[in-house]
Amino acid sequence: MTNEATVKSGHQKSEAGKRLSTIMFSDYVNLHQRARDGAFVVWIAIVVPAELFAGFDNVVYGVPESHAAMSAGKGVGPLQCEKAERLGYSLDLCSYARIDLGTAFDGGKDSPTMGLPKPHLIVSNNNNCSLLVKWFDIYHRTWNVPHFLLDVPFCYEPQSARDLDYIVAQYRDLIRTIETLSGQTFHIERVREALEHTRDALASWKRFLKTAASRPAGLTVFDSFVQMAPFLTSRGTKTLAEHYRLLAEETEENIAKGVFPVPNERYRLLWDNIAPWHQLSKMSSRLASLDANLIAASYTYCMGSLEGEFDLYAYDGGDPLRYLARTQNFSICPHGMTLRFQAMRRAIDALGIDGVIFASNRSCKVYSVMQMDLLKRVTSELGIPAVMIDVDHADVRKYSEEQAFTRIEALLELIEARRKEPKSLPGRPA
Ligand code: SF4
Repeated sequence: MTNEATVKSGHQKSEAGKRLSTIMFSDYVNLHQRARDGAFVVWIAIVVPAELFAGFDNVVYGVPESHAAMSAGKGVGPLQCEKAERLGYSLDLCSYARIDLGTAFDGGKDSPTMGLPKPHLIVSNNNNCSLLVKWFDIYHRTWNVPHFLLDVPFCYEPQSARDLDYIVAQYRDLIRTIETLSGQTFHIERVREALEHTRDALASWKRFLKTAASRPAGLTVFDSFVQMAPFLTSRGTKTLAEHYRLLAEETEENIAKGVFPVPNERYRLLWDNIAPWHQLSKMSSRLASLDANLIAASYTYCMGSLEGEFDLYAYDGGDPLRYLARTQNFSICPHGMTLRFQAMRRAIDALGIDGVIFASNRSCKVYSVMQMDLLKRVTSELGIPAVMIDVDHADVRKYSEEQAFTRIEALLELIEARRKEPKSLPGRPA
C-alpha cells in the first residue's frame, strides 16, 4: 500500500499543461497566418514525416486527424460527425474522417481552431489504414487538389532494407512534387537540423513515459495522451524539444517531491488503442476514485520506437531520409501480431503493469482487429489479467461509460484475485 504521508495529489494543471495550451494555440494561429500570407499548405496524415517540410522556405502543414482529435476533446465531435452524416457519409466510417469532412465542408465552423486552411497538396499514407486514403481522396475530387499517396509496406516483421529503399524513393518523389508545385527549393541540411530537434524531443518523451515506472507512477496515461498533440503540429522544432525536456524534468521533480497523480495507486493498467478523447477527464477521475491508474498505452509508447520495441530509436546524424523511412512504421496499426505483442510485453515488464484494458474501437478497425488474440496471449503467456471494452475514440455516441466501467471493475477484481493466488501456478511469472 502507498504511504499516504509521503504523497500529495498532483491533479492541478501543471506547468507543462499550460505550456501545451500555449504551443497548440500558437501552432494553429501560425498555420492560418502563414497560409493567409501565401505559404504553400500541405495536409498530411498523422505519420507523414513533417520534418521534410522544414527543408523548404515556406511550406506549412495541417494534420486533419490531430485536428479531429482536438475537436473530440473539446466536445464538438458528434456535432461535426452529424454534418458529415447529413452529407451521406456512413456512421460506420472512422470518426476522425467524419469530424474532418463535417468541419471542412462547413468552412471550419464550430471548430476549436477555425478548421485548417485549404491545402495546395494532400499527402496520405496507406500503412495505417486504407480508409484514410479514400477520405483524403474526397478532397482531391471535390477541390481538385493534388493527392500524393505514400505507399508503405505493412510490417509483420522488422522492416526490410528493400522496403526502406522503396520509402526513401517516394520521399524523393514527394520533395520533387512540392518543388514543382510550390516553386521552392528543398534544402536537406534543414531537415537534418529538424531531426536533431526531433531526436532531443523524443529522448525527453521517452524519459517522461518512463516516470510511469515509479510507484506510484509519476504520470497518468491521460497526461501522455494530451502531450502527444504538439508532436503532430510542431515536429522538428526547438520549441517541441524544449517543451518535452521540461515535461520530463517537471514530472521527475514531482516524483522527488512525493507528488503523484494517483497517490493511492493500487492498480497499474495499460491501455491498448487510440485515446478516448471525449472521456479523458471523466475516465481519469473515475479510475483514480478506484485507486486505479492507467500508466501506459501502446498509442503513446510507440512514438520514438521501432516496430515491436519500447525503447527510443534515436536519429544518429546520418541520412535524414533513411532515418525517416526507418521510422515510417512507428505507429501500431501497421504492425503484425508478433510485433504488437513483443512491444506490449516489454512495456508490461518495464513498468510493472497489473492489468490491460483492450479498447475495441468502433472507428479504428485496424487498431482493434487483432486485440482478442492479443488479449489471449497477454493472459495466457504473461499471466496478466485483461478485459475488452467498447469505445469510439472521437464519437461519444458510440461509448457507454457504465458498460466500460463494469468491465474495468471486473478487471480490478481479477487483479485482486491474482494477487491472492500462489505464485507458483503454471503460466504465472513469480
Ligand atoms: S481508422 Fe484508424 S488509422 Fe484509419 S484514419 Fe481512423 S483512426 Fe486513423
